[in-house]
Amino acid sequence: MPVRKKDPLLGNQQRRNFVVFGVPFAVLVLVGVFFCRTLTSFFLVFVPAAAIGLAGFARETKLFRRYRCPQCGARLSESPRKNGQPIEFFCQHCDVIWDSGFIESEVSGG
Ligand SMILES: [Zn+2]
Repeated sequence: MPVRKKDPLLGNQQRRNFVVFGVPFAVLVLVGVFFCRTLTSFFLVFVPAAAIGLAGFARETKLFRRYRCPQCGARLSESPRKNGQPIEFFCQHCDVIWDSGFIESEVSGG
């Protein structure tokens, strides 16, 4: 029987990703919503906001698509699951199920 373990790194990476991309994105969007009254200022704020948002989204996707076993470094693919189920990665080499700490949601598409 495989052992179930929680991956402590993925949560950290995801949090850092949120701080690096999510916070500036949110700030720019708020600034745009509250202070932009002209089309030029709108573009000045929303174009970088969209770029940051896309970069953050791409990075987050990569985090899950290119997941590596924290123990042996093997590339693992996500185990099949449905909405509302935890996102897990099974390493055959270590016989460990890594729990990402995240729940599959309709937002992330699956
Ligand atoms: Zn492994």
